[in-house]
Amino acid sequence: MVEGILLVISGPSGVGKGTVCRYLLEIRKALKLSVSTTTRPPRQGEQEGKEYHFTTPSRFKAMIKEGFFLEWAVVHDHYYGTRSDAVRELLSSGQDLILEIDIQGAEQVKEKVPEAASIFLAPPSMAALEERITGRGTEDSDRIGRRLDTARREMKAYDRYDYLVVNDTVEKAAGLIDSIIDAEKCKVSRGARPPGGGGEC
Ligand code: ADP
Ligand code: 5GP
Repeated sequence: MVEGILLVISGPSGVGKGTVCRYLLEIRKALKLSVSTTTRPPRQGEQEGKEYHFTTPSRFKAMIKEGFFLEWAVVHDHYYGTRSDAVRELLSSGQDLILEIDIQGAEQVKEKVPEAASIFLAPPSMAALEERITGRGTEDSDRIGRRLDTARREMKAYDRYDYLVVNDTVEKAAGLIDSIIDAEKCKVSRGARPPGGGGEC
């Protein structure tokens, strides 16, 4: 069996990663989103096991020590991580999987799983990014300022990714990522073979 594709979607906070991923999951039903573990308190409407697995800092630190994570990072004062066992299990069953994670985590995944396809989601402009972070209404003004400072730094990391997608409209960005997955599936290095195995011509 050919392993599923591991797709890493990253980019600055507020660029629209969550929004684009949700749309992508609608247009590509076979795709799954990995559920991360975090120490951030749940936002209104978030459910355990759906958006995140919520845990305490001490439990998270114990999980780091026990080697549970494929990658982990501290993002805006909270721990976030992707459990290795769940990712390996899904990929080996042929499931295509998205990791929607921050830039530090994306670098760790690329080091450990070089065949993962990494996508940097960029805003159409810094003004649009500021509008999106402010418009989301989940942060106070102090936190918005910090997220924007981090975002400016993070924008410089785009050249360490396999693909760059501008989140101009959600439909366009998700459509491009959908095409990237199709292209990844055609890679011979990933196991694509002609019908009949290619030896019969
Ligand atoms: P992230 O997951 O990268 O932090 P979100 O998905 O939470 O970002 O999006 C941040 C805000 O930007 C949300 O209010 C969302 O509705 C808005 N947004 C996302 N993509 C677009 C887009 N293409 N055009 C306009 N607004 C967008
Ligand atoms: P939020 O708190 O807004 O849901 O997420 C904050 C940031 O954490 C986002 O940039 C998101 O991509 C990132 N994030 C979510 N899950 C993970 C994870 O498992 N690992 C890493 N490294 N970052 C994550």
